[in-house]
Amino acid sequence: MSGLCAGIQLQRELQLTTYTIFELESDVGGTWLSNTYPGCQSDAPVHIYSYSFAPNYEFSKKFVPQSEIQAYLRATAKTYNIYDKIQFQTRISSMRWHEGRNKWILHWIKSTTGEEGYHDFDVVIHAAGVLRLPNIPKEFDAFEGKKWHSARWDHSIDLTGKRVGVVGTCASGIQIVPAIADKVQSLEVYGRSASYITPQLNVTYNKAWRFLFQYAPLFYTIYRAFWYYYIDSTILLYHKLAWFSVFHRAIVYFVTWFHRFRQFPLDPEMRRKLTPNYELASRRVVLSDDFYPVLKRPNVSLHQDEIVSIKGNTIETSDGSTCELDVLILATGFDWISNFPEGYWIGRSDIDITKSWGGSPVTYYGTCVPHAPNFFLIWGPNSGVAHHTLTSIAEIQVMYTIRSLSYMMEQNIATMEVKQEAAQEFLKYADQRLERTMYTTKVLPKFTDGMGKCRGFWWGGVTEFWWCMRKVHPERFHVSKRDGVLKKPYLNGSVERFKED
Ligand SMILES: Cc1cc2nc3c(=O)[nH]c(=O)nc-3n(C[C@H](O)[C@H](O)[C@H](O)COP(=O)(O)OP(=O)(O)OC[C@H]3O[C@@H](n4cnc5c(N)ncnc54)[C@H](O)[C@@H]3O)c2cc1C
Repeated sequence: MSGLCAGIQLQRELQLTTYTIFELESDVGGTWLSNTYPGCQSDAPVHIYSYSFAPNYEFSKKFVPQSEIQAYLRATAKTYNIYDKIQFQTRISSMRWHEGRNKWILHWIKSTTGEEGYHDFDVVIHAAGVLRLPNIPKEFDAFEGKKWHSARWDHSIDLTGKRVGVVGTCASGIQIVPAIADKVQSLEVYGRSASYITPQLNVTYNKAWRFLFQYAPLFYTIYRAFWYYYIDSTILLYHKLAWFSVFHRAIVYFVTWFHRFRQFPLDPEMRRKLTPNYELASRRVVLSDDFYPVLKRPNVSLHQDEIVSIKGNTIETSDGSTCELDVLILATGFDWISNFPEGYWIGRSDIDITKSWGGSPVTYYGTCVPHAPNFFLIWGPNSGVAHHTLTSIAEIQVMYTIRSLSYMMEQNIATMEVKQEAAQEFLKYADQRLERTMYTTKVLPKFTDGMGKCRGFWWGGVTEFWWCMRKVHPERFHVSKRDGVLKKPYLNGSVERFKED
């Protein structure tokens, strides 16, 4: 999704076609190509989860299944001729800055043939995703039956009549459980800590809606803007002390409580099990209409006690109960730290950037990184959001990249590298602001760094992120001019707009 956005905007905004996208899979889609589990769907209104510059009037619902998002991404890539720009099944195994040539040297490997080689580029946009590498806790290695991670669904196995376990009751787990409950013999749901769940209240877009989206552009614009800013205002939920945030949280807390109560009015034990043991908004609040009802089925059991042992096909929990399973499904999240292994990313002066971070990422707005000239991260550390969509963040980071490139071309600049002080200043400010959010109340380990600092999230709304990123500040960068003849910029609207800013 982010890589496509970057490719399309390079073409649209800079008329730049001399770029290559490397993709290790055989198609576009990323998250939406690999997550094909039953029930997989967006948990944000799809009109704000799709690109602002590529509207789709045909979405069937407000929250759509994976297949529709994947079809949308494929169609958008085709519309903008991006397929021709992608080298599929090609993995980038390392990136190294070449000091003398002012270029990034990328080492690629074809996964089909093992063929490998090097390509050099003036600029790298790194859009390799965050929720990509499955996090599989070691303890599940001992399970001898069939098992797989939610992001690598094994469609060759029919679950009909099988005894199935699902580990995890966060975003993916609560989508999988209702989708498979009616076909399996028994379903054991393991979740150490429940999630705050509000009703999803999905809306089906019938012909009339779709007609309006397509033929009443003003209606579509207002509709999208409404969801964009309304959802952005829910960032208030994540602020610790402000009165409006406490009020907002109290309302959402009541909604989640009532959602549980409505399903289990006479079952206080079940309501207790489904009550999260952490503060509201210190993790994402998730949406589901069918997770609670499915737990009432006779073939579904919820286990909240910790898994203490796995022997053969049997799982034992700390309350002493044991269950024998045919299939174990791990909805156990993703490992974002391993996205940047040591040796993968070597910047200026041969600095291994991951190593130099010492477990605590140093970036400037999650987009630029000291020692990495001409390098832009999409969805880097401290640029994730829990309340809005990743598409919005990616579009803003891509816009920032485009403006930086416009500036470089206009000013005949060879390299732009964010200063260490600028990044440290950003982090200092980030820590102060994050301290005031619920993310630092009980931060998920995957969003903290080695020093317990929250390095996953941006602290504010998407609108604030846009505000901070709307201008490039050259004084915050080490800049070196290109020798020789002035290279004409690819003049178009972007350069003009940048000047106006
Ligand atoms: C089940 C699920 C549901 C989600 N729902 C939502 C939602 O509703 N709203 C929301 O905002 N977010 C959601 N997310 C988060 C989602 O990951 C992002 O919204 C978005 O799809 C990320 O897009 P991306 O392009 O940045 O990353 P990815 O989709 O992860 O794409 C990265 C791409 O880079 C490729 N790649 C990685 N490393 C290399 C390499 N070394 N060489 C070559 N290619 C490489 C990968 O193959 C992949 O195609 C969801 C995530 C999951 C897992």
